[in-house]
Amino acid sequence: MSRSAHPAGPRHADVLPEGRSAASAAPAEDLNALDPKVWAHTVGRDADGVVTVGGISVTQLAEEYGTPAYVLDEADFRDRARAWRTAFGDDADVFYAGKAFLSRAVVRWLHEEGLNLDVCSGGELATALSAGMPAERIAFHGNNKSPEEIERAVRAGVGRIVLDSFQEIVRVAHIAQSLGKRQRVQIRITVGVEAHTHEFIATAHEDQKFGIPLAGGQAAEAVRRALQLDGLEVIGIHSHIGSQIFDMSGFEVAAHRVVGLLKDIRDEHGVELPEIDLGGGLGIAYTSDDDPREPHEIAKALTEIVTRECEAARLATPRISVEPGRAIVGPTAFTLYEVGTVKPLDGLRTYVSVDGGMSDNIRTALYDAEYSVALASRTSDAEPMLVRVVGKHCESGDIVVKDAFLPGDLAPGDLVAVPATGAYCRSMASNYNHVLRPPVVAVRDGAARVIVRRETEEDLLRLDVG
Ligand SMILES: *Cc1c(COP(=O)(O)O)cnc(C)c1O
Repeated sequence: MSRSAHPAGPRHADVLPEGRSAASAAPAEDLNALDPKVWAHTVGRDADGVVTVGGISVTQLAEEYGTPAYVLDEADFRDRARAWRTAFGDDADVFYAGKAFLSRAVVRWLHEEGLNLDVCSGGELATALSAGMPAERIAFHGNNKSPEEIERAVRAGVGRIVLDSFQEIVRVAHIAQSLGKRQRVQIRITVGVEAHTHEFIATAHEDQKFGIPLAGGQAAEAVRRALQLDGLEVIGIHSHIGSQIFDMSGFEVAAHRVVGLLKDIRDEHGVELPEIDLGGGLGIAYTSDDDPREPHEIAKALTEIVTRECEAARLATPRISVEPGRAIVGPTAFTLYEVGTVKPLDGLRTYVSVDGGMSDNIRTALYDAEYSVALASRTSDAEPMLVRVVGKHCESGDIVVKDAFLPGDLAPGDLVAVPATGAYCRSMASNYNHVLRPPVVAVRDGAARVIVRRETEEDLLRLDVG
């Protein structure tokens, strides 16, 4: 694994800053402060200096639910979901990307807050349906949906299936027709734009597994074929350009190219497709160095871009949908760990080992992601020390927070919290080293409850049938 891997994969390594991360440049002025940018809304410290969320202290949570644990601020989740919903209003649709983190409680909150849901596997579909999400509010994604998954989705009546290949166009049409149905579909295209953080790359081609390339007329050919099939109702074009994006200019190029395709479709087939989905990937603050945009700013920018492009092409503005995952759930949770060992390495840094690691947060090892960390069970006035927070796995790449500062008197038994772990941590968690996956504890208005329980050794042994 390349040490400079980028969140989007090794080919983007060149857009990362050189050397040590910004987080290690200098300690924050007050190590006890909790930057509201990276912590959920209700997080603070009580009179004793203990971190609290939703009115409950982390020491209480640790005592009741153990560590490590993902602690999710339900009010914050609902606030963010509602902010997205309100920002886009009634003329657009917000689909929460379930892969960021999905559980039945989350599905209910989304339903109650008026959001739709993206799923990309039979398991995610089953979770969504079992928690009562209306099928017509579910979109089914993926580059290799099995025939069984497609059939389940069509039978359930999902609102849209996002088609990802020529073979899938025929497959879904065939399955829908054999069930006597006409399935609403979008066609996912790749527009030659990849956006990450503050950079984007616009090219003619995209070398990736998702979608059908706009280049070479392939996307137009896909639409041509789909329009001819009785089992399909083609409702729009889908484009998803990247992850952890702060800069809107990548969306601008993508929208321009998608609208160009809509225009070609109109000119060739006399059909104006009514929807355009611009995907997700909107960035959040993992550390104080990140400056994400508010949902209303993003909604305004995207709506303006699409409207402008459509006016230029003399098309009626299609209904827009977006698919934020991380931007809703990412900041709502932190991971609570107990410190096990503190190992100073002279002239280098201090290694702080916690009771979880790459099994509950693979993003640091996988993407070189940056996180911050705070001493949560108390405050301290001790001098800052440069630390690396590592897990308990048999793997030297088992790093949770690569560079950060914690108080110099940190000791075994202290609780530390890593914020902004709501997205792609529990959902990517593994059993490496037969370490048990932590629970997700939701906190709201002074009450805590487990929404995903801690894995047990029994769970492990149940799968191992000898
Ligand atoms: C992953 C994904 C998203 C969500 O990405 P975030 O970075 O969590 O916002 C949305 N749409 C599609 C198609 C995706 O693959």
